[in-house]
Amino acid sequence: MSRSWFRDAITGEGHWSLDEVIYRSPAGNLLEVVHDLSSLKAQGPDKLKALWDSRWGPRTPTPFHSGIWGKKELVLPDIPDEHVVTLDEGHSSLLPMGRYAEGLGLDREQLLIKQCGNSHSGSFKDLGMTVLVSQVNHLIRSGKQDFLGVACASSGDTSAALAAYAAAAGIPAVVLLPNAKVSPAQLVQPLANGALTLALDTDFDGCMKVVRELTHDGRLYLANSMNSLRIEGQKTVAIEIIQQLGWEVPEWIFISGGNLGNTAAIYKGLEELLELGVIGHMPKLVCCQAAAADPLYRCFQNGWRGFQPVVAAATQASAIRIGDPVSVPKAMKGLIAHGGEVAHASESELAEACARADAAGFFTCPHTGVTLAAVEQYAARGAFAASDRIVVISTAHGLKFAETKAAYHGNKLADVQPERANQPQVLKPSIDAVYEAVEAHRRSREG
Ligand SMILES: *Cc1c(COP(=O)(O)O)cnc(C)c1O
Repeated sequence: MSRSWFRDAITGEGHWSLDEVIYRSPAGNLLEVVHDLSSLKAQGPDKLKALWDSRWGPRTPTPFHSGIWGKKELVLPDIPDEHVVTLDEGHSSLLPMGRYAEGLGLDREQLLIKQCGNSHSGSFKDLGMTVLVSQVNHLIRSGKQDFLGVACASSGDTSAALAAYAAAAGIPAVVLLPNAKVSPAQLVQPLANGALTLALDTDFDGCMKVVRELTHDGRLYLANSMNSLRIEGQKTVAIEIIQQLGWEVPEWIFISGGNLGNTAAIYKGLEELLELGVIGHMPKLVCCQAAAADPLYRCFQNGWRGFQPVVAAATQASAIRIGDPVSVPKAMKGLIAHGGEVAHASESELAEACARADAAGFFTCPHTGVTLAAVEQYAARGAFAASDRIVVISTAHGLKFAETKAAYHGNKLADVQPERANQPQVLKPSIDAVYEAVEAHRRSREG
């Protein structure tokens, strides 16, 4: 008897094996993975917490050392361990934001950042991709299915993660990118990992349309987050946050939203913890969008009525430049059921939020900048109580977006007048010249 299967994520109907190649229900809705939680529930939450804590250590064997597979009973309980494709993803730091938090009038320890971008390919996309590629690997190795390869449309980070995990498994990867709309680091990752990399003359939403048709007949397996296997890995971020807080629930979680799979994933993780009795209540989630691509924000402002896709405009936060998010129904279901909110941030707000966080020792990607800008808006309007703990989910490593940061510091970003631009100074190799520069730097910091 399998312990997990697919069902319609919206109606809750249907029952399909995880070994089937299926991405939508006959009604056209997205699917979700359901787990039979009865035996875990019967054990009680303390045993589960102790098991998960025991695996978070240096001597845990593969695959259980991974932050994802350390929660295997809630991810893919039935997959044989030897079919798991892991690059030791997950178990990322949850750090207090210290001086940045103080700058917002918060306590040093009150605002925490979950560093999901400190991962194998530099973004949280690894967390879902290990699950999806493991299941594909399982289908192939056990002779249940065969594919020409695994394909995705990507705003940059999905293709980097897919290319890495597919290469590790020896499965061909096909990635569709919007031409000239991803960063150089994001483009070189699939190239380096040997993926067939196709730059289409369209935007992300255009690539998504092509990949959906391309994967329709089952010859290529679809690796986008409309494939609900990815959500099973991504949801472990919510579990890790709670675990790192000593199994306590923070009051707030802020997360950036593009295609909205991650927002749906955080809710799925939290809902399962609630059902298992690991937590007793839900945190408040705030999904944060760039104002250039904010269809969910507009719908929220309209009292959750009449969602309308938009044509996404250019934004520094290129990975969330998505006007027609695939996971809108799933994300809205969670947000509406649990009183979640949606915020948005302008190009200037997100760039300055990044710069302020970086000045306190971080190196934030623009998507995390969107999220931090939303935290700043909430702090400015006094939304946080003194005892509230606020967790910001950082989605990628800033080094993937070095050109955007360089453009900020070189005052080359449209719609941004940088408040903290910092440029290299070219000097003669003399002690006096260096001291002069140091003194001038000190005076400018004091002034
Ligand atoms: C994919 C991505 C997002 C958005 O996640 P969704 O699940 O599409 O909402 C945010 N930030 C980064 C860096 C990403 O790669």
